[in-house]
Amino acid sequence: MMNYLIVGSGLYGATVAQQLHEAGKTVLIVDKRPNIAGNVYTERVEGINVHKYGAHIFHTNNKAVWDYVNRFATFNRFTNSPVANYKGELFSLPFNMYTFNKMWGVTTPEEAAAKIDEQRKAAGITEPKNLEEQAISLVGTDIYEKLIKGYTEKQWGRDCKDLPAFIIKRLPVRLTFDNNYFNALYQGIPVGGYTKLVENMLSGIEVRLNCDYLEHKAELDTLAEKVIYTGPIDAYFGYKLGPLEYRSVRFETEVLDKPNFQGNAAVNYTDRKTPWTRIIEHKWFEFGKDENGNDLPKTVISREYSSEWKPGDEPYYPVNDEKNQRLYELYKALAEQEQNVIFGGRLGEYKYYDMDQVIAAALDRSKTLL
Ligand code: FAD
Ligand code: UDP
Repeated sequence: MMNYLIVGSGLYGATVAQQLHEAGKTVLIVDKRPNIAGNVYTERVEGINVHKYGAHIFHTNNKAVWDYVNRFATFNRFTNSPVANYKGELFSLPFNMYTFNKMWGVTTPEEAAAKIDEQRKAAGITEPKNLEEQAISLVGTDIYEKLIKGYTEKQWGRDCKDLPAFIIKRLPVRLTFDNNYFNALYQGIPVGGYTKLVENMLSGIEVRLNCDYLEHKAELDTLAEKVIYTGPIDAYFGYKLGPLEYRSVRFETEVLDKPNFQGNAAVNYTDRKTPWTRIIEHKWFEFGKDENGNDLPKTVISREYSSEWKPGDEPYYPVNDEKNQRLYELYKALAEQEQNVIFGGRLGEYKYYDMDQVIAAALDRSKTLL
């Protein structure tokens, strides 16, 4: 009899497993995928660590989390600075003085602030109630129309008026010349890839891959005193209150016989018509070099297509609108009645967590358990 069965080897499951194992508890992990690491899984192709389930840039203000991950990997100095391509015109992201200069020709922070203010007033928004109003009140109508509306509607498959304002507040708005996408003290990519990081976290812990907990629940439940479940909360309950909505992403990945396709790790296509949301060129997360510092002759790119989740797809983004949040609360009440099962992570808590937040939540949970 194990102390804990952990369902899912993503960052939540891996962190809890590592902490419990280190404290002397016995732990078994099962994951239905053929690989560990959940959505941060990276796979080596042509010497390049390809982010198989979407590009992941580690960033945090949480020193404890930063120290924690640095126990298992060395992080490089990558700083995320995506470029927005709107019908062939290129803009800097996040929204900063380079963006405002390109959009309006303004050269000083005062001029940029005045332009945003003028557009906000013209739109007549005082208290933003949805993503559209929030975006216009942060950066004005021109940036909303060219850099936000199309991208967001492709990404979420919903009108910006029907989306919660908080999604756009994730992006910094700066009146300085600073293309760093994140306001974070610490940022980087684990050298050797995320899979290596998670492998190091799971050292000494038994992991069973290709094992779907929900298919073998009765049998697996007999193996441990407690279960930590990081899969979708609605799936756990057989969708009996109806399915929660997720957004899914399809990746079209290509190896190109050239060293440089777009000159940057991420280019966002912000118009409505281009079917993909962005193109990732994976080698630039590690400056185009292999682990020995050699230039790589080829490149790997992934086009990302956002779609509504349906059974069989990977659930990626919880849709935290009011309707889904209400349904989640009902599932959460059921979860609280489940004896000896703890729900955690992006899917178990139906929460738009970043990696550092997932790790922080898992460290907290481990502390409580111990
Ligand atoms: P997951 O990584 O999803 O792990 C859950 C695991 O559970 C999976 O391995 C799954 O196979 C397994 N599982 C599910 N059901 C079962 C079952 N029935 N039986 C067995 N196993 C099961 N965060 C950042 O900080 N920076 C970024 O740049 C960033 N980019 C992102 C890009 C994309 C496209 C997405 C979708 C997310 C991004 N995130 C980013 C968020 C980040 O991916 C998550 O915060 C984090 O990976 C969540 O970890 P988790 O362990 O909760 O979930
Ligand atoms: N966003 C946008 N244009 C961009 C990039 C992002 O409008 O070029 C919006 C979009 O609504 C997205 C949100 O900002 O969902 C948050 O972006 P972030 O990059 O944080 O999304 P992630 O993919 O990390 O969840």
